[in-house]
Amino acid sequence: MSARRLAILKEMGLAPVWRLRGRSSAAESPSQVSGWNALEVEVPACTACALHKTRTRTVLGVGDRNADWLLVGEAPGAEEDRLGEPFVGQAGRLLDNMLAAIGLARGENVYIANVLKCRPPGNRNPEPEEVARCTPFLERQIALIQPKIIVAMGRFAAQTLLDSDATIASMRGRVHRRAGVPLVVTYHPAYLLRNLPDKAKAWSDLLLARRTLDGL
Ligand code: URA
Repeated sequence: MSARRLAILKEMGLAPVWRLRGRSSAAESPSQVSGWNALEVEVPACTACALHKTRTRTVLGVGDRNADWLLVGEAPGAEEDRLGEPFVGQAGRLLDNMLAAIGLARGENVYIANVLKCRPPGNRNPEPEEVARCTPFLERQIALIQPKIIVAMGRFAAQTLLDSDATIASMRGRVHRRAGVPLVVTYHPAYLLRNLPDKAKAWSDLLLARRTLDGL
């Protein structure tokens, strides 16, 4: 249940509401806890590439660490660099709306991360060297979350996660597998802000992901 819905129910005198625990609220195992603790120490201390010199904050990720859904973007932008949370700018608002359209919400059975944990200056594209240095953090997040479906948003996320140099157009519209986990490719929300007609395609990508998860 969303925080807003809970607040409304409270206002109406109908909360607290008890519900069965789903997978998303499962407790973390000791090895998951230590794995996340290690990431929370190592990522902010990372100096593996030059981006550490220009970052304000690292951006590890946000959400439910037992989520079925893992959404992966490219790299923090200016707002994310300032606040330490992924997708909090304009693209993030669109992402939240897209999630809501398929009945999801940030933090509720969803985890959001980026390929890069530091902002490339001026929001330039990530360099291959930066991607290579940073990807092990994302790999560790995937191993800890064990998502049931991964949605790669944009070219960098798709190419990195699928170890491919294919175009986004050729990767969309079908279900890939990454180490056995279904993966759907879609457009990056920042691209959609500039190319509104492609929102319909992103919508069909999310429905494909939803159908894939529901059919597992
Ligand atoms: N774009 C991304 O790819 N990630 C963010 O966190 C913000 C914008």
